[in-house]
Amino acid sequence: MHEMAIVQSVLDVAFREADNNSGTKIRKIKLRIGELSGVVRDSIEFAFSVLKADTAAEDAELEIETVKLKAECGTCGEAECAAWDLNLICAKCGGTLRITAGREMKVEYIDLD
Ligand SMILES: [Zn+2]
Repeated sequence: MHEMAIVQSVLDVAFREADNNSGTKIRKIKLRIGELSGVVRDSIEFAFSVLKADTAAEDAELEIETVKLKAECGTCGEAECAAWDLNLICAKCGGTLRITAGREMKVEYIDLD
């Protein structure tokens, strides 16, 4: 499962943070996941509950913020797009839209005890 690898790499970052702060526990991890990142939120939550067991993150809470898809028209600058509307053509002028948000998957912060 793709999400297992993602969560493992997030946890590795968190453990490094904890190590750098002399072995503290991880209290909370916040992720930002774009609508278009292809990452399934439920799978992330499941992977987290499995992988955090018996680690410095075992009591940690996972917060996930979903980042809405945003796009911008290279011709007129209009920025309107919905996740289900993936033809990426500007409704105003017919120009090609460029995705400016919604593809990311990143760690927003790691909260240590
Ligand atoms: Zn346009």
